[in-house]
Amino acid sequence: MTTDHGYPAVRLHIAGEWCQGGTGRTAPIVNPATEEVIGEVPLATPADLDRALDAAAAGFEVWRATPVAERTAILHAAAGLLTERAAEVGRIMTLEQGKPLGEATAEARRVADTLRWHADDARRAYGRVIPSAPGTLLTVRREPVGPVAAFVPWNFPAGGPMRKISAALSAGCSIVIKASEETPATAMELVRCFVDAGLPAGVLNLVFGEPAEVSAHLIASPLVRLVAFTGSVPVGKLLAARAGEVMKPSLMELGGHAPVIVCADADPVRAARGAARAKFANAGQVCTSPSRFLVHESLVEEFTATFVKAAEAVVVGDGLEPGTTMGPLANERRLTALERLTADAVAKGAKVLTGGERLDRPGYFFAPTVLTDVPEDADLMSEEPFGPIAPIVPFTDLDAALAVANALPYGLAAYGFTDSAATAEKLVDRLEAGILSLNHCGGSVHEAPSGGVKDSGYGREGGPEALDAYLVTKRVSHLLAP
Ligand code: NAD
Repeated sequence: MTTDHGYPAVRLHIAGEWCQGGTGRTAPIVNPATEEVIGEVPLATPADLDRALDAAAAGFEVWRATPVAERTAILHAAAGLLTERAAEVGRIMTLEQGKPLGEATAEARRVADTLRWHADDARRAYGRVIPSAPGTLLTVRREPVGPVAAFVPWNFPAGGPMRKISAALSAGCSIVIKASEETPATAMELVRCFVDAGLPAGVLNLVFGEPAEVSAHLIASPLVRLVAFTGSVPVGKLLAARAGEVMKPSLMELGGHAPVIVCADADPVRAARGAARAKFANAGQVCTSPSRFLVHESLVEEFTATFVKAAEAVVVGDGLEPGTTMGPLANERRLTALERLTADAVAKGAKVLTGGERLDRPGYFFAPTVLTDVPEDADLMSEEPFGPIAPIVPFTDLDAALAVANALPYGLAAYGFTDSAATAEKLVDRLEAGILSLNHCGGSVHEAPSGGVKDSGYGREGGPEALDAYLVTKRVSHLLAP
């Protein structure tokens, strides 16, 4: 069933059934490109959450006992369905989140591959045999941790949920996931692929609700064995503290404020083009988005001119319109935040070279923005902008630039541009970040881990490390001839 806007009717998925939630309470879903209400999301009650928890507990017993080859086959079948449905999933994603259709469809295709990668990797979740005394078999086993409670945001409506679902299910865990109430239908379409692929009931449960109520309820439940969250630092700290109170492990993928250091020996034009492409992807609403541009003073003029040109070439519009390269911000909160950050920077002496304001049309559109002369005490230099704003700051001394880069409590992504191997290794050694890219600003890949240090969180998603949070280690010493 779809609405007049071609947007599906959103449902919870609990114990293998699509349902509306106990009280019939809903929240509106808004298309950020038009500000029209396109649907409504049902909000779970505590009783709905309890049903989801019971289902996940029962689903875990079924799933952990399913042979790994069968589990893998179901996960691959789900990935196949998602690949087939990517165009439709992309259209739904654009309607609810705003990103250009091409980006949205590519995201849907990419996450099908995330699932394949995790499913295959789980087949190699080996334990080990340790040399011991004769007659004693000493082994280390890796077992699924148990039912997972996961919470994911709205910036990657497919990528966020799939990173958690694919790692959990591949490891043999069941999951109750609360996807974003602002982008619920994409998550629902992902779940539909698993259901259609034959995933047993209860293994994957999807809920929406009041975020604080849902997380408090799920984290407190003794049935939940792992808390996995992607989102802002303040909310991550809150959920990690709650998990700690009940001695549960947690996986925290939090925000960042990525520095880009362009050294004196770099190519300023190549650096600016690459950095601008990454900056305006997903309208800057990416936790690893480059967001503080520290450029050697000898290059700053050419770098800035190229960056401004790239910003002005961005085609801002409704993501469904052909040719659009940047959609609106995903919600009104981001628009308000970007207006506040720009006004604060300008009041403190920054110059707006391009953009700097919302577009004069319906929708949460903010112009690609480049600022210079941004003082260090501007909020923009310490608060994650999560939007299409680029502050460019010149430096003379690399050590001083590194000090600025490392000064914030964040430590997610960092970028460096240099032609010198020695300088590159200095950046590797000194930058406090979990993800470092040199001479490019490309995104994450399934094969390698992503995650932060410092306030940006702990645990890793992607790479073989992704399964670590979802598996527990059991030492078994077996006396064979007592
Ligand atoms: P927010 O801090 O209110 O929420 C961030 C996410 O956490 C949302 O998905 C929200 O639904 C969820 N959330 C909020 N309170 C919760 C709770 N008590 N329990 C469980 N989930 C909860 O901010 P927002 O306005 O949605 O986003 C703004 C900021 O969040 C951005 O500036 C950015 O720093 C951060 N963010 C980070 C990521 C990321 O990928 N790391 C993604 C989205 C947002």
